[in-house]
Amino acid sequence: MIPQIDLTRQHEALKAELAAAAARVLASCRFILGPEVAALESELARLCGVSHGIGVASGTDALVIALKAVGVRPGDEVITSAFSFVASATSVLMVDARPVFVDIDPGTYNLDPALVDKAVTPRTRAIMPVHLYGQPAAMDAITAIARARGLAVIEDAAQAVGASYGDKPAGAWGDVACLSFYPTKNLGGCGDGGMILTAREDVAGQVRRLRNHGSSRRYEHVELGYSSRLDELQAALLRVKLRRLEDWNQSRRRIAARYRELLAGVPLTLPEERLPARHVYHQFTVRTPKRDALAMALTDAGIGTTIHYPIAIPAQPMFALPDADRAFPHAARASAEVLSLPCFPELTDAEIEATSRAIRDALGRLH
Ligand SMILES: *Cc1c(COP(=O)(O)O)cnc(C)c1O
Repeated sequence: MIPQIDLTRQHEALKAELAAAAARVLASCRFILGPEVAALESELARLCGVSHGIGVASGTDALVIALKAVGVRPGDEVITSAFSFVASATSVLMVDARPVFVDIDPGTYNLDPALVDKAVTPRTRAIMPVHLYGQPAAMDAITAIARARGLAVIEDAAQAVGASYGDKPAGAWGDVACLSFYPTKNLGGCGDGGMILTAREDVAGQVRRLRNHGSSRRYEHVELGYSSRLDELQAALLRVKLRRLEDWNQSRRRIAARYRELLAGVPLTLPEERLPARHVYHQFTVRTPKRDALAMALTDAGIGTTIHYPIAIPAQPMFALPDADRAFPHAARASAEVLSLPCFPELTDAEIEATSRAIRDALGRLH
């Protein structure tokens, strides 16, 4: 059995360090907004090339709070991707703004900048690019549009911590960026968590208030905020993992390179690495019109796969936009064709070979 992701291998290797970190927090009895969170905030801010990191309770909360902090108000429009995890759109609804979907570039699965430019209206307040599967969106083009039109940029970097675009890390391009520590992310906690990154002093200040009941100092509340903090236990555990993040991301890139060698010539579209992006392969996602048959054959061969994502956001029942498939054809096609293969840093070469052989065999039978 080859799982699509297996956290037990990572945790087995880190068992003693994770236990020591947890014990340190339990002994301190300091559980909310203490030294571990502050340390993780500055470590991640440094890694992502910005001056402020602010821990929050989840990646979704990070998006919601970031939208508020850059000035998105009820009725504003926010341009977001038609093909992502649903939080890329629901976060916009949560601040009573309107998500305006834009189709993806079918090569990278990220926002197509040419379509972004066409989607701007007088009501547009922000653009929210997603760095899907670990590859940053075309941040030079997207930030140029934002500058020309006076819009804020919120990077959804939930899948791309440690990635970069050109000379800047993912997270350093926008006015603000959001990370998720959901356990399966490249930097995953042992529970929920998220972080907001920004180089803007004003945004950082407001995010710090918003995550903690709108308070500027203890029991003085200057605006309506949230109860959305990262806790000390998560931060301490995440700091253990953060020390390995660059090694893990390099392993993911090696795994991707190995899949490319072994799957060369197979009738399957492999992920495109579009320079100057440095992809960190949160997922190694392939595509084929025979996706469902391939997934079934791999399941039969004992190989785990996942579909990220089987329904494009505008086609989700909660949006049920009529004509969603025709309006966002690349997102619709991706949702029918993508398949994420086993990809996690501890995946062995033998497992990559076995997976690639099984794909070759299955597609040979299917063609
Ligand atoms: C995981 C994820 C989120 C949400 O993060 P949570 O921590 O689960 O709330 C948002 N956007 C993208 C692209 C994600 O992958």
